[in-house]
Amino acid sequence: MTIKGKAYIAGIYEHPTRKADEQTLAQLHAESAMGALADAHLTKDDVDGYFCAGDAPGLGGLSMADYMGLKLRHVDTTDIRDMLARNLENDRWDEVASRCLTCGNCTLVCPTCFCTSVEDHTSLAGDEAERTREWDSCYSVDYSYIHGGSIRPSGRSRYRQWLTHKFGTWYDQFGSSGCVGCGRCIAWCPVGIDVTEELAAIRASEETADGHD
Ligand code: SF4
Ligand code: SF4
Repeated sequence: MTIKGKAYIAGIYEHPTRKADEQTLAQLHAESAMGALADAHLTKDDVDGYFCAGDAPGLGGLSMADYMGLKLRHVDTTDIRDMLARNLENDRWDEVASRCLTCGNCTLVCPTCFCTSVEDHTSLAGDEAERTREWDSCYSVDYSYIHGGSIRPSGRSRYRQWLTHKFGTWYDQFGSSGCVGCGRCIAWCPVGIDVTEELAAIRASEETADGHD
């Protein structure tokens, strides 16, 4: 399956009930969702995101996910900016750096990444000069090059920059998270690094260190 298209239908289910005196709206939604999963030979454990029609009860998809007991991929954003700022020396950065190829795929597919560099070209005759702006990535060693060298020479420092900017310092810069929850960085990472897992691991290690669990 490619992720270049917009949507795919994997399973279909038409609820047989036409006059639902005995069933709640939540039951009808849940039975329809479960029917579509069964049609696709999938189970609840295969679901990591849930979207449904706007007539779902309560908070819509969120309430239905809770009602059906779905374990959806998500990020706990509670205090996330400060949580990341407190964990700049967390051992998890070394662990994820041992898997990360610093290929930059995640930054290239992320809809909110905007890093660019500027290239100057001049002709040998000296009568033409051109300055162009090109896409770049915070995973490039040269992206943080200043006089004397790169300030983020290691994979650890570059992965940390990506995650702490996207989920932390974006709040300082733009007043919001830099993540829209599209999941593209997860889908396109060649080694399966998942930002939701990395953020959860950092949060969990902090709670363990504080004796919260
Ligand atoms: S899930 Fe968030 S960080 Fe990943 S590509 Fe989408 S917006 Fe970017
Ligand atoms: S796509 Fe994966 S391996 Fe490549 S830089 Fe991003 S996290 Fe690292």
